[in-house]
Amino acid sequence: MYKDVQLHIDGQWRAATGGRTIPVLNPATEEQIGTVPHASEADLDEALAAAERGFHIWRRVSAFDRSKLMRKAADLLRERADSIARVMTMEQGKPLAEARMETMAAADTIDWFAEEARRAYGRVVPARAEGVYQLVVKEPVGPVAAFTPWNFPINQVVRKLSAALATGCSIIVKAPEETPASPAELIRCFLDAGLPKGVVGLVYGVPAEISSYLIPHPVIRKVTFTGSTPVGKHLAEMAGKYMKRVTMELGGHAPAIVFDDADVEHASKTLAGSKFRNAGQVCVSPTRFLVQEKVFDRFVDQFVAHAKALRVGNGLEDGVQMGPLANDRRIPAMESLVADARQKGAEIRTGGNRIGNKGYFYEPTVITGLTREMRAMNDEPFGPLALMVPFRDFDEVVEESNRLPYGLAAYAFTKSAKTANAIASQVETGMMTINHLGLALPEVPFGGIKDSGYGSEGGSEAIEAYLNTKFVTQAGI
Ligand code: NAD
Repeated sequence: MYKDVQLHIDGQWRAATGGRTIPVLNPATEEQIGTVPHASEADLDEALAAAERGFHIWRRVSAFDRSKLMRKAADLLRERADSIARVMTMEQGKPLAEARMETMAAADTIDWFAEEARRAYGRVVPARAEGVYQLVVKEPVGPVAAFTPWNFPINQVVRKLSAALATGCSIIVKAPEETPASPAELIRCFLDAGLPKGVVGLVYGVPAEISSYLIPHPVIRKVTFTGSTPVGKHLAEMAGKYMKRVTMELGGHAPAIVFDDADVEHASKTLAGSKFRNAGQVCVSPTRFLVQEKVFDRFVDQFVAHAKALRVGNGLEDGVQMGPLANDRRIPAMESLVADARQKGAEIRTGGNRIGNKGYFYEPTVITGLTREMRAMNDEPFGPLALMVPFRDFDEVVEESNRLPYGLAAYAFTKSAKTANAIASQVETGMMTINHLGLALPEVPFGGIKDSGYGSEGGSEAIEAYLNTKFVTQAGI
């Protein structure tokens, strides 16, 4: 059922010029399940020319009609969700239920952006002289280059694609080579809904080769990237050199703060569920569990029990709650962070090992006895590691929360409205969720500050990032 993936350029699904391909592996079995084409420079040139033509077609389609087409794509995605989810699990590893949820949530994202498409309002500014009209007009920024990672193969594309299409931009998506088929199926829904050719292009290859070709290219007017902070900084520098609009959604190391007046059972259950979703390969994953001393042992015991009870296995099997890590780089990444913590005196309360030797399975892991000198406390683990750290008082937890250069997501649990307000205002973060998991809905902002990037991939801010502001002033003659 897993078919070899193709490029999509100028309305055609096709192989790369020169025929080069990259193997695609199933992370649960390490078997090759297909191939993905490796775009050449000639392919990128064609994609760029098509994106320029596509932009001139698409920007003239009314927002009303763009919105209708997008809704149709969302309906197709819902109809195809079961088969697309299987493809995603085969290439990415996450349990089928999570893959299905991601696909269905993507359809909601498309719908939301489709509605917003019709609300890219400008404004009229009162003039100083009679007969003068001062108009603020919103126009699409132009062809977009989007670079997306492998942890949410559809979700990472759909936010960029939907915002671009809603505003009248064309877009070239450089989707992940390791999880290429499910984003291709997302794009197929838009094409089957009637998207004119050239409006969307889909390429794969060597990420650095593609970004260094597309970003400086004069056709591209906007760059959007989701991935690690070092790569994001490199791409932002390049975009700056060529004066391109940029959205950067980068790494995080989220503090999850549990005060001693919180409902500890609710906090541990909610946070453990969130920690091990997608095997922890989530930019907003709770990572440093900062728990007030009085409830620390109770919280950790409950969290450990939850981690031990998780069923880890092939995401296609019934009842599996956590799949393998998505690629072979994640296993040594986990092993070296855990070895470093162990060697510096941390206690591994559960987990800490690879499972078996076929497939990239790693145990849900809970660590205590951590210090700031340990690498895991500073580097984004991007895997199923939960770091438990006790704190004494409010000031101490604020200081630890803000210690790292990241500022993407933060979590807090407390029954006090006063504490909730104070922690929300003092943690340096792009997103804060208190007493529940409330992030990543299409209608609310999604993005970070500090080294976690800039710009937003949700809410009306996400639309604004794909629009230019033009001022027009006109006097009657
Ligand atoms: P990586 O840093 O090499 O790559 C991260 C992503 O950036 C990948 O999708 C990759 O294809 C892309 N990329 C890398 N170099 C690029 C370039 N020059 N131009 C364009 N795209 C480029 O590492 P990785 O092993 O794939 O992922 C590991 C780290 O990446 C994780 O530890 C995590 O911090 C980060 N990551 C973050 C997210 C997120 O949602 N923010 C998603 C995936 C990975």
